Amino acid sequence: MQEKGTISIHTENIFPIIKKFLYSDNEIFLRELVSNATDAIQKLRRLSSLGEFKGELPEPMVEVSFDEKAKTITISDNGIGMTAEEIKKYINQIAFSGATEFVEKFKDAKDANEIIGKFGLGFYSAFMVADTVEINTLSHAAGSEAARWVCDGSTEFEITAGTRDTIGTDIILHVNKDSEEFLDEFRLRGILEKYCRFLPVAIKFGTKTDNVPDGEDEEGKPKYKEVEVDNIINTTKPIWTKTPTELNDEDYLNFYRELYPMTEDPLFWIHLNVDYPFNLTGVLYFPKLKKDFNLLQQNKIKLFSRQVFITDEVKEIVPEFLMLLHGVIDSPDIPLNVSRSFLQSDGNVKKINNYITKKVADKLAELFKKDRKEYEQKWSDIGLFVKYGMVTDEKFYEKAKDFALLQNVKDEYYTLEEYNTKVEPLQKDKEEQLVYLYATEPQKQDFQIKAAEKKGYDVLKMDSVIDKHFVSYMEYKLEKITLKRVDSDVIDNLIKKTDAIAHALTEDETKKVKEVFEKAIGKDSMKVEVESISSDELPVTVTMDEMSRRMKEMAEMQNMAMFGAMPETYKVGVNGNHELINRILKADNTDEQIKMARHAYDLALLSQDMLKGEELTNFLNRSVSMM
Ligand code: ADP
Repeated sequence: MQEKGTISIHTENIFPIIKKFLYSDNEIFLRELVSNATDAIQKLRRLSSLGEFKGELPEPMVEVSFDEKAKTITISDNGIGMTAEEIKKYINQIAFSGATEFVEKFKDAKDANEIIGKFGLGFYSAFMVADTVEINTLSHAAGSEAARWVCDGSTEFEITAGTRDTIGTDIILHVNKDSEEFLDEFRLRGILEKYCRFLPVAIKFGTKTDNVPDGEDEEGKPKYKEVEVDNIINTTKPIWTKTPTELNDEDYLNFYRELYPMTEDPLFWIHLNVDYPFNLTGVLYFPKLKKDFNLLQQNKIKLFSRQVFITDEVKEIVPEFLMLLHGVIDSPDIPLNVSRSFLQSDGNVKKINNYITKKVADKLAELFKKDRKEYEQKWSDIGLFVKYGMVTDEKFYEKAKDFALLQNVKDEYYTLEEYNTKVEPLQKDKEEQLVYLYATEPQKQDFQIKAAEKKGYDVLKMDSVIDKHFVSYMEYKLEKITLKRVDSDVIDNLIKKTDAIAHALTEDETKKVKEVFEKAIGKDSMKVEVESISSDELPVTVTMDEMSRRMKEMAEMQNMAMFGAMPETYKVGVNGNHELINRILKADNTDEQIKMARHAYDLALLSQDMLKGEELTNFLNRSVSMM
């Protein structure tokens, strides 16, 4: 048997194009060929169970081996095999509608996944690393003859009688000059472990042939030693393919430790399993998050398709806030062969998004209901995640508003509703606006927190990276509620209960006080205002109001350069009712007045942790001399 023919594609030579465009991703040739081998084995099993294959089933096995000397990589399977006719049908007729379309699409393709799947080119990815590819195969069909196909990367191929005497297929790659890096045990093992670690059929990293001669054969030619590497590199039934009832906590934890070695154990997990209207399985873990977790570095969910690893860039596939989770998603229904931007608008991907969001919300609701105490203990980790989800995903917000907790500076926890009930009686201002007070750094804001507590007010703790966003978002969502940082003004101004009453100073005195303070401070960015606050408050306060501070923070988050250009203005609130202000007015001379004003102002800076550098030095010297 010998036949020559032409692979039916309409372009002269497609392989140079494949190589050129796919170069960066070329390691996936192995994923594609091992997947084909796995499929072939599963097909044979299916035929056997249907009674269409009557022979004895061998132990299913894919073997990957390489020969450094001959510069070959071989992928062998004991699957269904192919007849010469089938090779012609399945391999020679590349399934795409025309070379023009192909080349057109190819131009913009960003990664190899896109092209290979789209055009059914799995097998042809072999040419990314090989000059010549051989197929040696024996079909399972009774009475078949072994067939051998060879193609050198041109559109010419050759089919002759093959040599395989057991059912199955060997794919032999004659590795090209540029791809010799793959003739390496660690490289190949690494690729197999990356893509094939959870394939459903045992993958053996087989014998390799050493490059160093080991004696001579009878004819005096150098002999090369075959080294048995013998290693099964995969787990054929990873936990996400099982049902939760088959698994205990230890199974989930062990799987997590295997996927993310050197990581702290997760808080809890969710087993995903749905087969309608799309097919998806997986296990998602809630990791322990650090307060300063980096949203950009979250690429921890691994995406599989029928147990073949595809990518850990799941950005378009899972909702953004779920990027903080770890674990595995396996779905053959995620279209991997389209451009990433298209993914976001894909119907299945949207459904998958919603499904995962719902599952995560359900799980959190369940934990909250089941054991509130434990849920509260985990809140410092869960909270970051829940808040992030709430501010980025409307649907999630709607569910999470019932189990999201607010933590106050005394480390008590309240749901949104509970908190509203708690603070409503005292924290309404004269406009019927309910004011929530919060601290971002309770240590630094202790003075203001104490002042609030003296009035019977409660202060929330909002000290994580996500809280800045969370505060604005809550305000937007919750009606008639304003959030104010506890140090953004004196407490009487934060929750204004009555219309301003005049302070004790006359108009002239007020003008004088303002002048003295402006001279003492000497900075345009410090706006002096004489206010009427209660006489037992501080004589002077320095504050930046809530809105200006938020603007500044936003500019900081978005763009450092712009932040540099933003003027920072503060209010210097002089308490017109304070005894000290009277004393300043009555001081002997202007110098003395300025000195006292400056000192009171420095104390205000100190209480805000704003007294720095030369100002601090001057303050210390002045304090000592005054004592
Ligand atoms: P796809 O796998 O997407 O169909 P491929 O180019 O990878 O595209 O393979 C084309 C066809 O060649 C497969 O559908 C299968 O019928 C056949 N084939 C490839 N590899 C093997 C193998 N190892 N054993 C049996 N048949 C195979």
